[in-house]
Amino acid sequence: MDSCDTPACQSARELFQDLEEYYDDDNLYFRTIGSVLEAADLLDLPHQIKLVVAQPKNEIMVHCPVRMDDGRWELFKGYRVQHNNVLGPYKGGIRYHPEVKLDEVKTLALLMTMKCALARLPYGGAKGALKIDPRAVSTSELERVTRRLTAALGNNIGPDYDIPAPDVGTNAQTMAWMTDTYINFAESSNKVTARGVVTGKPLEFGGSAGREKATGQGLVYVLETLLPGMGIELSEQSFSLIGYGNVGSWTARLLQAKGSRLKAVLDHTGAIINESGIDAEKLAKYVRENGGVAGFPDAQEASENTFYCTPVDLFIPAALEQMVDLEHAEKIQCKVLVEAANAPTTPRAEQLLLSKGVEVLPAILCNSGGVTVSYFEWKQNRQSETWDEELVDERLQKVMRRAAELVLKTSKELNCNMRIASYAAALKHINTVYAMRGIFP
Ligand code: NAD
Repeated sequence: MDSCDTPACQSARELFQDLEEYYDDDNLYFRTIGSVLEAADLLDLPHQIKLVVAQPKNEIMVHCPVRMDDGRWELFKGYRVQHNNVLGPYKGGIRYHPEVKLDEVKTLALLMTMKCALARLPYGGAKGALKIDPRAVSTSELERVTRRLTAALGNNIGPDYDIPAPDVGTNAQTMAWMTDTYINFAESSNKVTARGVVTGKPLEFGGSAGREKATGQGLVYVLETLLPGMGIELSEQSFSLIGYGNVGSWTARLLQAKGSRLKAVLDHTGAIINESGIDAEKLAKYVRENGGVAGFPDAQEASENTFYCTPVDLFIPAALEQMVDLEHAEKIQCKVLVEAANAPTTPRAEQLLLSKGVEVLPAILCNSGGVTVSYFEWKQNRQSETWDEELVDERLQKVMRRAAELVLKTSKELNCNMRIASYAAALKHINTVYAMRGIFP
């Protein structure tokens, strides 16, 4: 990682020195909280708000023993970080990844607090993770570990308290196992509403129409709101993607439907390029069947270097954190970097991109479509309703437009970049609610 000398890092360093707490410039959590504190400084928010958002409320760690198919027992480490709940129940995805670390989960929980506040959803922020490679275990092992994790989390999750959802390495099936396990432990009088413990469930089991594509769909609504003001027409753009999972593949298919052209993709299996366009639908089917983009017949294989050097209008990271570093930013040639993944850009890379005239649209705005439709699912579960996709899309569009316009307005008012503006718009709301609620007792 490149070292950090931004105002954001300076704000974080000062606060954690005051607290006499551990601080590390190169740590993703401190880098992220730094940008949030920079926004708090711009708004001149009270010191106590900075203290409250700088550290999560609860950090839960569990160890789950699971019997593997060959009879061995393995121990899996799980995390749930509950960052803040001033606006409502904790909300955030569960990630399955072999290299996940507590600080990564803390970062993602903090971003969820900011995301829900920006979208004005009645939720706080949380994130969970299990240290496992989901591709390296069988389906029955995955089911047992998921049920064991849910049992270990116990009453730390619940439809009125903390509501998980899918993230990297988890999907609707994982959510169905979690929900079923939770319902088995619920009081008989609560079994109907208990399914609201998790969102991103399969449609047939309390899921919402439009949830699977929601993050990509929300991103398209953000672009439709903001690009015309930059003189960019969505219908004529070329784009490249890092990641072709849920978010990446839906973003590609929906942008293609708007007339944009997918030029290049990089995922964990390799990179592919086709200057005259990659069919996003065909690629989605290929990735479902083959596990990654490598070997896709209608494109040329490329090196990672060629991928980053390929000129496009929109560059869209939709994989893991901090993948766009300074070295990559030097190569990237685009008009707008659209953050579909959480925290995909290092602070130094962002500084360089901005100085090259690239607009950077921040993750808490661009990918908040997922949690917004999760909110719709939770609402439908509570009211025993089923909305059709048209209604979901209409309401999603409203939320995304409002959030995008708010970020643009805030960036003009505070004369700051879009990331700091998005945090400022979120923090302003959090600060207002803290001022009304006060602190117990
Ligand atoms: P996913 O598991 O469906 O896909 C992850 C993608 O990342 C895969 O295509 C994989 O190949 C790629 N990848 C992994 N390691 C890589 C590497 N080293 N180099 C290149 N590519 C690599 O996950 P997802 O749900 O699409 O999530 C992607 C991002 O979007 C994450 O940051 C996640 O937190 C964020 N996000 C997801 C949702 C959602 O609804 N799923 C909502 C908001 C934000």
